[in-house]
Amino acid sequence: MVADSPWLGRRLVDCPRIRITKLLTELQGVNTFMGKVTFYGACGCVTGSCTHLRWGDTQILVDCGMYQGGAELKKLNWDPFLFDPHELQAVILTHAHLDHTGLLPKLVSRGFSGPIYCTKPSKGLVSLILLDAGKIQEEQARYARKKGYSQHQDPRPLYTSEDAKKALKLVTTAPFDRDIELAPGIRFRYSRAGHLLGASNVSITAKGSDGKRRTWLFSGDVGRYDVPILKDPQAPDQVPDALILESTYGDRVHRDTDPKEALLKIIQDTFSRGGSVVIPAFALGRSQEMLYYLAQMVREGHVDPKSVFLDSPMAVKATRVYDNAVGEHDEDLQELDDHVDPLDSTVFQHCATVNQSKALNSRKKSSVIISASGMATAGRVVHHLAHHLPDSRSSVVLVGYQAFGTRGRALQDGADTVSIHRRKIRVRAQIHTLHGLSAHADRRELLRWCESLPGKPRRLFLNHGEENGRKALAAVLEEVDWPRATLPWPGDSVSW
Ligand SMILES: [Zn+2]
Repeated sequence: MVADSPWLGRRLVDCPRIRITKLLTELQGVNTFMGKVTFYGACGCVTGSCTHLRWGDTQILVDCGMYQGGAELKKLNWDPFLFDPHELQAVILTHAHLDHTGLLPKLVSRGFSGPIYCTKPSKGLVSLILLDAGKIQEEQARYARKKGYSQHQDPRPLYTSEDAKKALKLVTTAPFDRDIELAPGIRFRYSRAGHLLGASNVSITAKGSDGKRRTWLFSGDVGRYDVPILKDPQAPDQVPDALILESTYGDRVHRDTDPKEALLKIIQDTFSRGGSVVIPAFALGRSQEMLYYLAQMVREGHVDPKSVFLDSPMAVKATRVYDNAVGEHDEDLQELDDHVDPLDSTVFQHCATVNQSKALNSRKKSSVIISASGMATAGRVVHHLAHHLPDSRSSVVLVGYQAFGTRGRALQDGADTVSIHRRKIRVRAQIHTLHGLSAHADRRELLRWCESLPGKPRRLFLNHGEENGRKALAAVLEEVDWPRATLPWPGDSVSW
């Protein structure tokens, strides 16, 4: 979110940029009104993905994500939807991450009852994420009531576990690379995005009142090329009329380092001092990637698999979902599988129960502990940090983005002490950051993905990025003669 965002500090519904009836722009050569696309979320920021599409009586959403980050952004989750959930025919999800799915239970509790489409491999992850989100919403409301810090006498959750379960009952899967009919004349198709298990980009094709078909392509979150476990991002084989492209890292290029070699050195140095390695990691995606690198080390004889612990209930479940999705695995993983399968729960130690987790503290031998949350704000990793941070023999390895204000960021910035469970904990352990790891394509990779399309779209919209990211990406694409990008704000609409 940027300081000049027109909706900073406002309720979304009051935002002066909400111009639902105004057409921001029109497709070149289209003079008759055929349909309308309205951007509601992830405009000028990287969370809250939600785009509304309408043709005649048919209305659908692409993604229904939660705003995450600072308090101002999180407040937007409480705003009423600016469309009637009863009138939506369907929701199409690009992938399972909370910033793309997290408001589905709210949507259902406000009256939506149609199908929620996702790819088959996404379904297990969507279920893990929404059930967890329902539980967290209830816990936060309970905590606010207990501490009395809410403005409301009786703080209510944004939604409940029951709402999450109702939303999950509506989830229906669709295959990759096959057209699915949404309504007469309207269809969609998924292609692999390589960003997370099951992640996709979505092409939606509809027939206009002039009888011509038009295709809008939603990139979803574009993944990386040549990274372990998942297949590379693909692009659809059809030229879209319009492309809505994410721009998270539109202004950045990931470092070209080998994370496995860097991690191996940290593990060897730490073990030689008699310490342990704690890796705070996101339960979905990053934890499995860490297991992949560790499996390589096991195969090469550098690491004993009995010293590696995956200690997060969600990561354990997610690893099982990844393991079952054999058709989504890339060649590198298949090759490693024949020697040591990183996703197999019998290779590394999976801590499913609290007692298994607590037992790690009394372990005398050096260990590698992968545990959530990825920014060390909550979860079991916090207990491991309290135990290992004061030990100068141990190491903490940060393997993901550490947002400002989180415990992970404080460690990354060299804090001498951190507060854990109201205690000041001295930081004597070595703190490392593993560079080059990200689930998002950087500027080069976004360009590569764009250039893999069979042709240039006539219109281009950049969302899911902060201003610097989307402006930089717009400039890069213009340099290669792509159309000038529109950078929509929430409530901006465009004719189909
Ligand atoms: Zn994502």
